[in-house]
Amino acid sequence: MHRYDAGTQVLAEAVMNYSRHRMSLQNAPQNAPLDAPLTAAELQKLVGPTITAEGMGGEEVLRLFSDVLARACITVDHPRYLSFIPCAPTKAATLFDLVVSASSLYAGTWMEGSGAVFAENQALAWLSGLAGLPEQAGGVFVPGATIGNLSALVAARYQARHQRSQHLPPRWAIAGTANAHSSIVSACDVMDIDFIGVPVGEDGRLTGEALRSTLARAGHEGVFAVVATAGTTNLGIIDDLESVGAVCAELGLWFHVDGAYGLAGLAAPSVRSRFAGIERADSFVVDPHKWLFAPFDCCALIYRDPAVARAAHTQRAGYLDVLTESGETNPTDYAVGLTRRARGLPFWFSLATHGTQAYTDAVERTLTVARYAAQQVRERPELELLHEPDLSVVCFRRIGWTPQNYRAWSEQLLAEDKAFVVSTTHNGETCTRLAVVNPETSEADIDLILDSLV
Ligand SMILES: *Cc1c(COP(=O)(O)O)cnc(C)c1O
Repeated sequence: MHRYDAGTQVLAEAVMNYSRHRMSLQNAPQNAPLDAPLTAAELQKLVGPTITAEGMGGEEVLRLFSDVLARACITVDHPRYLSFIPCAPTKAATLFDLVVSASSLYAGTWMEGSGAVFAENQALAWLSGLAGLPEQAGGVFVPGATIGNLSALVAARYQARHQRSQHLPPRWAIAGTANAHSSIVSACDVMDIDFIGVPVGEDGRLTGEALRSTLARAGHEGVFAVVATAGTTNLGIIDDLESVGAVCAELGLWFHVDGAYGLAGLAAPSVRSRFAGIERADSFVVDPHKWLFAPFDCCALIYRDPAVARAAHTQRAGYLDVLTESGETNPTDYAVGLTRRARGLPFWFSLATHGTQAYTDAVERTLTVARYAAQQVRERPELELLHEPDLSVVCFRRIGWTPQNYRAWSEQLLAEDKAFVVSTTHNGETCTRLAVVNPETSEADIDLILDSLV
């Protein structure tokens, strides 16, 4: 199994051929099909048992994967996959994902993975520089913003415990808004801390003023951090980072910015000013697997002062001493988790290959298409925008439709292999949204979807 022999050579050809073919499908107009989920019973019938004492042979298993299993997975980089937040990796990033696997890299520590970690750090430094953080800022690529948000808040609480060791509060808490991503409340559950909800204004934004008055009313003895969102998942709303950051500085609170989706917009001059104040962040996350064209799973977690994160997260164990005492910084010390894949390398390779201007152009292209979609919604009498888009998410209602109408429409689009667009809710109302993060999504794709809503 471990030798590279004649059999491996045959399998390598088959796997490479399949990979090449699969990647080449994602070129309009002959996109890969969107595909659709099957039930477990249907898959059982089509696939049967695959784990056997003798093994089935690689070619047969690959055939089952490409003919059946892959076809039961929705194609997330399809230009008309506009649900949730899609993922549209560049071809260079996808290709390098193969290289990362073939290279047997361990990227948890500098000692084992210095070359990979060095390259990942350059990609992190680009993001940190876009945000305007000081040069010593740094962090790590983690699987997703859920782990990134949790890790940042753990570091923040660690700092608060040390700073307030003489007067520990009965309960720790963070403040944020109801628009914060579900992973924030989930992090509070994991950490057993309280979440103080700050009301948002008409425009859905958290402001420093609202933060100050909520904390004055609720008391802020146990509050140690504030989470602002730079691009909410549902509507793409960016909190007022400037005023929130200022209040955090005044009250001595850790300022964390969840930009899992939206902070990719830092690369786009047409929206850059909306992130004013991001340079005040003590930590932030952005998922290259969302709007920066990296394959799953890849989230950049960046700290203003990485030393605090190291102190909070470094695991101590006899067998690890040789690593923790080596003096170099280890990615694994910045977040929850120990073993790690060099998941930042596909992003780094693509960024280094194409240059940052290509990223700027690609993000701007998606913004142009999203603005086109918003304009079309304004012009069509049966549709109504629910929010003027800040970024590339366009949320709107089909006037007169019930939740059942949306569901039937969405199911039909997928059944016809036209598009994957699902409904969402906003203020209790069922509506729908288009999340454009794929530069291959065109104005014609938007028209095709909107035309199906009459
Ligand atoms: C997607 C998202 C998350 C969660 O990120 P994962 O990478 O899926 O863990 C958190 N916050 C926001 C704002 C998001 O859009």
